[in-house]
Amino acid sequence: MLGPVILAASRSDRMRRFISAAPGTKQVVDRFIAGEGVDDVVPIVVDACGRGLEVTLDVVGEDITTPEQAAAARDAYLELIARLKDLGLGTKAEMSVKLSMFGQALEGGHELALANVRPVVEAAAEIGTTVTLDAEDHTTLDSMFAIHEELRKGFPQTGCVIQAYLFRTEDDARRLAAAGSRVRIVKGAYKEPASVAYQDKGEIDKAYVRILKVLMEGDGYPMIGSHDPRLISISQELARRAGRKLDEYEFQMLYGIRSDEHVRLAAEGHRMRVYTAYGTDWYGYFMRRLAEKPANLLFFARSILTK
Ligand code: FAD
Repeated sequence: MLGPVILAASRSDRMRRFISAAPGTKQVVDRFIAGEGVDDVVPIVVDACGRGLEVTLDVVGEDITTPEQAAAARDAYLELIARLKDLGLGTKAEMSVKLSMFGQALEGGHELALANVRPVVEAAAEIGTTVTLDAEDHTTLDSMFAIHEELRKGFPQTGCVIQAYLFRTEDDARRLAAAGSRVRIVKGAYKEPASVAYQDKGEIDKAYVRILKVLMEGDGYPMIGSHDPRLISISQELARRAGRKLDEYEFQMLYGIRSDEHVRLAAEGHRMRVYTAYGTDWYGYFMRRLAEKPANLLFFARSILTK
């Protein structure tokens, strides 16, 4: 019940101002956000990779309103990639981007987002790593998949995300499960109408397993984005049945969520990538994390009230 309310609040400017200014917010935000800038996140990347983990880095931000903000988002990624260059981590540190932050929703936004993301993908390739295009709300996906296809012409390793809660995703998975493709499957984090998405958790989980099967039996590289213990063991079983070796798929989880599990899976020999978000425009990302687990909201409310 609470999840959809929180997701609605994630689009409200009034709530954004209220929550951002509330005392106690920072303490909770810090659980999910790895810092404000590159200087904060680089030591976290080094530490994670030193512990046998891999990372995908997200400069938080979305719903920008001007082309200048979109260019600033591109530059933030370019700054990050320049810093990663000296670390020589290759694909151990890749990037995740939201095309909305690159201008996708502005006038001429499809072209603008493509023009902004291309140099990021090029710079990533120059340091031997890759970029994955995050999936946002369903109205943005045709554009995201078209940009993904365009980028893959020069950079076939560019990844994308598909969301199990959408009815369309099984078809997308079949199209994407081709040689060389990198596809992250997640449950889906946005508020979507019943006309396009399953609303029931059980239905979403069943769809996740069907889609995962398509990816595992296909020729691409599946990236399993989930903290759900049941789905993780089903993934391991499906990978085994499909004859995949441990380096022919990977698990991905979010920074700050089930961190013990990151280490446990890596110790078992799995490739485990931690989605590590940082930056100052954390509101939308943070609210989706609250919506995923009502207990987070209680913790958040308590930390505001005790300040
Ligand atoms: P759930 O059933 O929600 O959670 C399983 C268990 O994990 C919970 O019981 C709890 O113990 C723990 N858990 C899950 N979420 C939280 C939380 N916020 N706080 C504390 N504990 C939690 N969504 C998109 O729409 N587009 C994307 O591009 C996208 N990229 C993602 C990338 C990665 C690496 C991951 C892991 C998720 C991504 N998501 C994305 C979010 C995803 O859609 C889900 O909303 C999120 O992963 C929660 O679903 P779950 O599979 O973990 O299962």
